[in-house]
Amino acid sequence: MIEIRIHGRGGQGGVTLAKILAAAEHREGRSVQAFGVYAAERSGAPVQAFLRCDDEPIHNPNQIYEPDHLVVLDPTLISPVILSGLKPGGWILLNCEKPPAHYAGQERVAAFRIATVDAASIAVKHGLGSRAVPIVNTALAGAAARLLGLNMDSVLAAFEEFGFHGGNVLAAREAWEAVRTQQQEPLPGEPHPPLQPHRRQAGLIEGNTGAPPLIQTGQWANQQPIRENATPPCNFICPAGNDVQGFLAALNGGDVDRALGILLETSPLPSVCGRVCPGFCMQQCNRAQLEGPVNVRALERYAGDHGAARVAVAAPRSERVAVVGAGPAGLSGAYHLARLGYRVTLIDAATELGGLMRTGIPVYRLPRQALDLDIKRILELGIETRLDRRIDHQRLKALTREFDAVLAATGLQRLTSLDLGTDLGSGEGRVVQGIEFLDQARRNDIQVSGEDVIVVGGGNTAVDAARSAHRLGAASVRIVYRRTRQEMPAIPEEVDDAFDEGIAIDFLCSPVRISRDGDKRLLTCERMELGEQDDSGRRRPMVVPNSAFELPCDRVILAVGQAADLSLLPAGATLSRTQPVDSSGGAPVYPAGDLLTNEGTVTAAIGCGRDMALRLHERFSGEKLYREPPTEDSVVRADRMRLQHFEAHVPHPEEVLAIAAREASFSEVRRGLDGIEEARRCLSCGVCNLCDRCVTYCPDGVLKREGSDLVFDYDYCKGCGVCASECSRAVIYMKAG
Ligand SMILES: Cc1cc2nc3c(=O)[nH]c(=O)nc-3n(C[C@H](O)[C@H](O)[C@H](O)COP(=O)(O)OP(=O)(O)OC[C@H]3O[C@@H](n4cnc5c(N)ncnc54)[C@H](O)[C@@H]3O)c2cc1C
Repeated sequence: MIEIRIHGRGGQGGVTLAKILAAAEHREGRSVQAFGVYAAERSGAPVQAFLRCDDEPIHNPNQIYEPDHLVVLDPTLISPVILSGLKPGGWILLNCEKPPAHYAGQERVAAFRIATVDAASIAVKHGLGSRAVPIVNTALAGAAARLLGLNMDSVLAAFEEFGFHGGNVLAAREAWEAVRTQQQEPLPGEPHPPLQPHRRQAGLIEGNTGAPPLIQTGQWANQQPIRENATPPCNFICPAGNDVQGFLAALNGGDVDRALGILLETSPLPSVCGRVCPGFCMQQCNRAQLEGPVNVRALERYAGDHGAARVAVAAPRSERVAVVGAGPAGLSGAYHLARLGYRVTLIDAATELGGLMRTGIPVYRLPRQALDLDIKRILELGIETRLDRRIDHQRLKALTREFDAVLAATGLQRLTSLDLGTDLGSGEGRVVQGIEFLDQARRNDIQVSGEDVIVVGGGNTAVDAARSAHRLGAASVRIVYRRTRQEMPAIPEEVDDAFDEGIAIDFLCSPVRISRDGDKRLLTCERMELGEQDDSGRRRPMVVPNSAFELPCDRVILAVGQAADLSLLPAGATLSRTQPVDSSGGAPVYPAGDLLTNEGTVTAAIGCGRDMALRLHERFSGEKLYREPPTEDSVVRADRMRLQHFEAHVPHPEEVLAIAAREASFSEVRRGLDGIEEARRCLSCGVCNLCDRCVTYCPDGVLKREGSDLVFDYDYCKGCGVCASECSRAVIYMKAG
């Protein structure tokens, strides 16, 4: 008989290690016994497990006090206590990175043979746990099996029996090779006596092994573990409805095409969003509590730029839909309708598709190749386009007769102005609208070289106009904004970039008048202070009395907002997500994008375009494909995660164009990532990624992995809750009853 005592800590899987070795020995025809000794210990407490194997039946049910060999899972446990009773000449297999020679000459182990294997590193390498909590038992099973002279095939069959695949098997194999013994004593290379030919070996689990019987707990366990994926914060917040966790998991597995396929289920503009989305998901990423959020935006860009995926299209339908407006909302609506089989005609007043993504957002943030790449994929679905067609009230009416439905996604066409005592366009075009300035800049149709430029506003248009003026050679550029940085609606990173590029921002400053001063203009401004909250939830700016001052300049760019132009819709039309606009006898008109929501981001427009397309589809098919947004209670925030289980992963830097190189150039500023390593930083919050931690830590072995399923044997589960408390991502919870 060989008796082995295993020393580990609660949760390290020492009992499972004993059972794996027992199963392998049993495969080779021996009687075996494997069991653990622990009571109420939770993770971390020292625990023992025992393994007996013999060619004869085993009748001794006692703990092992005089083992032939020891296995030590945690090197910090090594102490005289654990050597107690070890027979002289027995081996001690240690999980440690040091070679056995390190222990040579140490008096207290002189009578024994030392074997070491760096099971922790091997485990981490194969994705078993983290550096902080490596799951070493399967690697040590490989090493111990080698010392016992077991046949590797028997070990692998034992793994199969326990449902251990992938990293566990690789770790066992590597440890089998890597285990080292003192003074290089030869390791057993030959297998134990060969298996009896044709004699079927019953598995340890199916057969009577001599181990204490499992105790049925079904009647007295008063709570049960449930495994249920919850909502990751990134998925919850994404206005486009993207499965952010899902595409990151695909990238983590190295599958860029699959990642793109997942994104294209919801958004047809990944290369665009991967550049200009404000990154709501990144603002809520739980990884931010560790070393910084996952750079989801750059990873989406990578998938959009480098992936290849076919978009599934349903069988053709007879209904025809006109989509008016080819910005992100219209493009998204057209894409989803075409995928559902509708015959779609996309109509726009402009001569090119893209809306503000083409005419507003400058190319140093969104190169046109990226926009065109996404648009090409959309048009490949067979969408007809009619460009250079402005739709007014009468033409919309005609469309409601020609088509079965109309999706109106015309954005915000009314520009808000400021009365500065001069008409827009007067003073030789020295006061211009931001949107018009940006469109002129992109067409190379405006000169500001050598000018002192002042931009009024705090949104993306203001910041983009300022940064564009800087690139066009303005002598100086300053933004005046009536609130503080905190209230600025512009994307914060863009504001940082503006500062870096030398643009000054005067906060709490509001212009009141423009006047001429020779060749120059004088912009009179007043200082502001913040008062009570207004309807927008921000503190209202109030004039500081007698605070007027003048700023000399050559040009003022107004970027103070846009509003919806409802003149094309029937008079008095109310816009809602749930009801189309009534076109008096014609086809229904569904509003979408900024026209409907004024949310002001590409991502929100994409989500809204899709949502309205799916609602339109419900009207024609009765099929409800849009989903109600998940509720906050289902979201796994950082406080529900076991953040301490995760290894540190510093963010992978994105290449950025040097400040000096931005001066006279519209080259793209952010250059993206050179690979997909960053995806490995995703914590997979609330979504089981089969880390097997629960299986490993279950003290009773009643949790098994079957393929991508985890099966709880509730008849034998005592409801201790270890699986739930060890689950790193809040996927397992305990349910009373
Ligand atoms: C300068 C600037 C920078 C921005 N930067 C960002 C950013 O970095 N990130 C971000 O997420 N969002 C940004 N935004 C906001 C974002 O561009 C908009 O929220 C988004 O484009 C709205 O999409 P939409 O489809 O509703 O409308 P739009 O993009 O405005 O598209 C409307 C389309 O309808 C067409 N149209 C209008 N009226 C008619 C008509 N009567 N007949 C026919 N066609 C018509 C227009 O030509 C246009 O193509 C920025 C906006 C601006 C102005």
